[in-house]
Order: sequence, then structure tokens, then C-alpha cells
Amino acid sequence: MGNPRCRREGCRREARKSSKYPHCCPICAHLDVEFDRVRDMFLTYDDDPRTTDVWTALVEASDAWTTYLETRRALVAAYPQRQRRTTH
Ligand SMILES: [Zn+2]
Repeated sequence: MGNPRCRREGCRREARKSSKYPHCCPICAHLDVEFDRVRDMFLTYDDDPRTTDVWTALVEASDAWTTYLETRRALVAAYPQRQRRTTH
């Protein structure tokens, strides 16, 4: 079993038990804060089509973070014998 999955949509990493957020890392937690913020903006600025641009930009940022985590994991996994300099 392991920990539950990170709450951010698209992220397949495990959530950290010690975190106060149900996410794998602070960046995922903050991205979800921004998703909540933009959902509120849809209510406040629902007559302005730029809300869609804001949403699209955030989804792209979120997807870019997912790509970073997955390519980083793949690189590290390719060299299990090498010492990592950081532990997080
Ligand atoms: Zn995550």
C-alpha cells in the first residue's frame, strides 16, 4: 500500500504523510491553491473571456510541473548506483 496519491490532478506521486496538505510536495499544494483561486475568479469575472486564458495558463503550468517531476524521476531511476546529492 503506501500513502495516498497526491491530490493535484495529473500528479501520480504519493502524498507526504507529514505534510499538512494531501500533496507530494509544496509546489503541488500551491498549484491546488491557485486552482481554487481561479475557480473563484470565474465567479467574480465571469463576463470576461480572459478567465479562460488564466485557467489555461494555470493548467499548462501544472502540466509542466508534472512533466518535470516525471522526467526527473526517470533520470534518477536510470542510474540507481549513483549517489544523489539531495535527499528530498
Ligand atoms: Zn504532486
